[in-house]
Amino acid sequence: MTASAKQRPTDCPCGGAAPNRRDPAKPPRFADCCGRFIDGGAAAPTALELMRSRYSAYTLGESQYLRDTWAPQTCPADLDADPNAPDAPRWLGLQIKRFTPLDATHAEVEFVARYKVGGRAHRLHESSRFIRGEDGRWRYVDGDVSDR
Ligand SMILES: [Zn+2]
Repeated sequence: MTASAKQRPTDCPCGGAAPNRRDPAKPPRFADCCGRFIDGGAAAPTALELMRSRYSAYTLGESQYLRDTWAPQTCPADLDADPNAPDAPRWLGLQIKRFTPLDATHAEVEFVARYKVGGRAHRLHESSRFIRGEDGRWRYVDGDVSDR
């Protein structure tokens, strides 16, 4: 598939998720939301926006974007987010629980992502750590997954 032939949704998969947003508000357009970062190459100004764009990248199978936004020290060598793989999760929605900027180059985002694998529903509840590199770009470092 060439870049120009990529399938892109009209509404952003992240839904514009933000802390304290409970009701499903009208989702932003992909091109105005995560598309700016995934396709446009713009640097996400905050770790929250980067987190949302990484969720959207998972739904779209954008493995290269996930690698580019993952700290090199912790990025898995075998990262592959192919949404057409038989065991690939089907992502259902993102909720942001907490966004905590710690300083100019460190931040945490707590989120719940819902997905299905083989017809079974799951939820991933994680507190993620992000770091901003000298190039000004935020990257995912790692996270703590909680059971509930
Ligand atoms: Zn988005």
